[in-house]
Amino acid sequence: MLWNRPLLPVIKCRYCDKSDEVRLHGKGRSGYQRYRCLACKRTFQAKYIYNVGKQERSLSELDR
Ligand SMILES: [Zn+2]
Repeated sequence: MLWNRPLLPVIKCRYCDKSDEVRLHGKGRSGYQRYRCLACKRTFQAKYIYNVGKQERSLSELDR
């Protein structure tokens, strides 16, 4: 039930732009969260996604 918290941000895959296929994929050496997209079988880092979100302001809007 820990994963059912509404405060979790919606992480969209940077490759295929899907959000419902993204799963946690452990953490990188620097401590940031990594994610894996089951749709395109790619992994990416949340740090990169957040940088993109700052530019497009899409992450915070999706969360509401
Ligand atoms: Zn994907």
